[in-house]
Amino acid sequence: MSDVEVLSARDVPLGGPRAMTVRRTLPQRARTLIGAWCFVDHYGPDDVAVSGGMDVAPHPHIGLQTVSWLFSGEIEHRDSMGSHAMVRPGELNLMTGGHGISHTEVSTPSTTILHGVQLWVALPGRHRDTGRDFRHHVPAPVRVGGADIRVFLGSLAGDTSPVPTFTPLLGAEILLDPGATTTLETDAGFEHGLLVDQGAVRMAGTSLHAADLGYLGTGHDTLTLTNETNSRARLVLLGGAPFEERIVMWWNFIGRSQEDIARARSDWMSGTRFGEVKGYDGDPLPAPELPSVPLKPRGRVR
Ligand code: MN
Repeated sequence: MSDVEVLSARDVPLGGPRAMTVRRTLPQRARTLIGAWCFVDHYGPDDVAVSGGMDVAPHPHIGLQTVSWLFSGEIEHRDSMGSHAMVRPGELNLMTGGHGISHTEVSTPSTTILHGVQLWVALPGRHRDTGRDFRHHVPAPVRVGGADIRVFLGSLAGDTSPVPTFTPLLGAEILLDPGATTTLETDAGFEHGLLVDQGAVRMAGTSLHAADLGYLGTGHDTLTLTNETNSRARLVLLGGAPFEERIVMWWNFIGRSQEDIARARSDWMSGTRFGEVKGYDGDPLPAPELPSVPLKPRGRVR
């Protein structure tokens, strides 16, 4: 039996008037977290002339960080701490929600093809009420055994991201040459997830196809990847120390209890706590109604 668990994507419309569809691989029934990574949305390549692109109105977050990583296109980010940034391919944009932030994401008029991932990191209990923050980092690619690697968080292949994290974490884009095999040194205390954007890749002996997320548990100090195609493969490798806390995820919030979520929802609807996004032409997104059944805390699957 292989050590790798294959998590398949489901299509999810992002909502709003110009609904873009994304492929979601995390969370899902079989798995809530990989390290502190708790949300993996993968989209494109989307012709924005057809899809309408991305236009996400002001919305709030608590208890998490968002990572935007593009392969193609450009997204304009604005948030309630006053950040105004362009998200471009190969550049990390990490926003810390903490106690509460609001933001907008809009693909720019110059974008023709939109293609990338949106990832969330759960904050550990003692930091989940931390202040708002926004970090930008452009990793230089590292060339290792048939692979070009961009390390945006944590350490891999001799490179370390300068952007601090609240739990031990890894995030990297890997471009793997046609037919190439590469073996990477990994932290045996980490669990890992490999998202395949382009190509067909063997991860520790298990074949993954485009849009799959392969999961490998702790206890491995190397990870071998083989590109089974004769064109370049594009991958996103995520890793982290197992996140042992149980979390409640609802809409754009991560808390520990129903009360955390209900309070965040009412604070958003009453216009407090999250601050204001300036420069966006449109109304904030209203929160959906809370479900009538209690929200269930979810945690690690062993
Ligand atoms: Mn968001």
